Amino acid sequence: MQYKQRTTNNEQRTTNNEQRTTNNEQRTTNLNLTDTHTHLYSEAFDEDRNEMILRAIQSGVSRMFVPSIDSSYTQKMYDLEKQYPENVFLMMGLHPTYVKENYLEELAHVERELAAKKFYAVGEIGMDLFWDKTFLKEQQYAFQHQIQLAKKYKLGINIHCRDAFDEVFEVLESEKAADLFGIFHCFTGDLHQAQKAISLGMKLGIGGVTTFKNGKIDQFLHEIDLKNIVLETDSPYLAPVPHRGKRNESSYTLLVAQKLAEIYGLSVAEIAAITTENSKQIFGI
Ligand SMILES: [Zn+2]
Repeated sequence: MQYKQRTTNNEQRTTNNEQRTTNNEQRTTNLNLTDTHTHLYSEAFDEDRNEMILRAIQSGVSRMFVPSIDSSYTQKMYDLEKQYPENVFLMMGLHPTYVKENYLEELAHVERELAAKKFYAVGEIGMDLFWDKTFLKEQQYAFQHQIQLAKKYKLGINIHCRDAFDEVFEVLESEKAADLFGIFHCFTGDLHQAQKAISLGMKLGIGGVTTFKNGKIDQFLHEIDLKNIVLETDSPYLAPVPHRGKRNESSYTLLVAQKLAEIYGLSVAEIAAITTENSKQIFGI
C-alpha cells in the first residue's frame, strides 16, 4: 500500500520536474533572490507545495534554504532537495521548541545526518523561552552542542531566538571564534542587540516583520550596513504585509526586498544582488 503510494508520488514528481524546467526557462524576472529560511516541508503546503515552489522560482526566488526542526521531517526535506536540486538547499539541526525528553536521541540524529551528507548550515538552533521554560538547560546544551557540530563541519549556524536574547548571547559569547558565523534568523531585537549579534559573526535574517506597522525593526534598520542583512520568509509563518496573518510562502521574499529597497533607498535588484551575495558568505553556495 505504502509502496504503491510512493510510486504514484514519484510519477508526479517527474511531471513536476518537467514543469519546473519549463518554468525556469520562462522566468521573466532577472532578480536573484535568496530565501534563507523557509519550511517548505510544512503541512501548510501539503495541498499545493509544487505550485508554491514554482511561484517562488518565477518571482526570482531561485534559492531556498530549508531549516530542520526535528527528525520527523528529515525524509521530506531530502525528497524536496532531490526534486529541486538547483533551488532547494538543506540545513540540519534540532529546533529549540523541539528539545524535549528525547533530545539526546534527536541530537544523535542531527549528528548522524551531518556525518552522512552535505548540508549548508546547522539550523535552526537556539533558544525559545516564549512557550515553555521547562527545558531551558537542555535547550542551552543542545544549542551549544550544535554550534560545536557546525564548527566541526565548517558550517554556519541558523539561530532561532525568542524571548531568550540573554541566554543566546551567553552561549554565543562562550563559542565566539573566527569559525563562529551564521544568521540570526527572524531578527526581532533592538539596535544594540543587532550590533551585538553582528559582532558575534552573525548576519540578520530579515523577513515579514519589517513590513509590520509595529514591527519596530524598520525604525533602525537603516543604521545597519546592508552587508549584514539576508532575506527570509520563515514560511509558512509571519507573512509580510499585505498578506499579514495569512500563510506565508517563499515568493513573498520579493515583498521583503521591496521594503528594504524603501528603507535603504536602493532598487529591488540591488537589494536582491547584495543580500544573495551575503547569503553565499554564510552558506558557501
Ligand atoms: Zn523557522
